[in-house]
Amino acid sequence: MQIVFYTDSPALDFSQMNEKAFPSAPEKCPFADCAMPVNLKKHGYYKRFFISKDFSGVLFIRRYICPVCGRTVSMLPFFCIRYFQYSAIDILNILYELYASGISLEKLIKKVKHDFPFIERRHINYYRKRLVANRQLIQYGLNLISPGFIQAGEIPENQQWAKIFLQEVYSIHPHVFLVDFSNITGKSFMTSQNIIA
Ligand SMILES: [Zn+2]
Repeated sequence: MQIVFYTDSPALDFSQMNEKAFPSAPEKCPFADCAMPVNLKKHGYYKRFFISKDFSGVLFIRRYICPVCGRTVSMLPFFCIRYFQYSAIDILNILYELYASGISLEKLIKKVKHDFPFIERRHINYYRKRLVANRQLIQYGLNLISPGFIQAGEIPENQQWAKIFLQEVYSIHPHVFLVDFSNITGKSFMTSQNIIA
């Protein structure tokens, strides 16, 4: 299980095992079928690769373990998405630019390559596909975070829906969306439905 948390610390602060960068241990097991009121114990770190505008490299992610059921919880800074190397903020920015500004994909790729030389068309296409494939999940989560999102009765087509969704994310702030969405649904907005996270 992942707990996504907000932090003011930049990604660089997670490039070493950094006790202080993480929230303290949960005081109750977050697995619903255990839920024992015990302090979880430190359980090392795992390493993951991360790419962002400001920092690219290995990040150390804190893990805790429940002493009762033995299951682990990883503490993920809000800018990380499980299974994705690129920063959640940068992915949202790319999608926002694509849908909200109306820029062509060709121009967007050129522009994005300035900051991310290794990004390819297939990355951006994958983000678009995931976003649309997750429309139902995203709408479900967003309705819990921000009730009234997209009026009942309107069923916009995908392009228009993506634009409205991304504008909403930026109005509530991307970090708020990322933390709340993940902790409400237990998934990331980019998670493939086939992956049980
Ligand atoms: Zn437990």
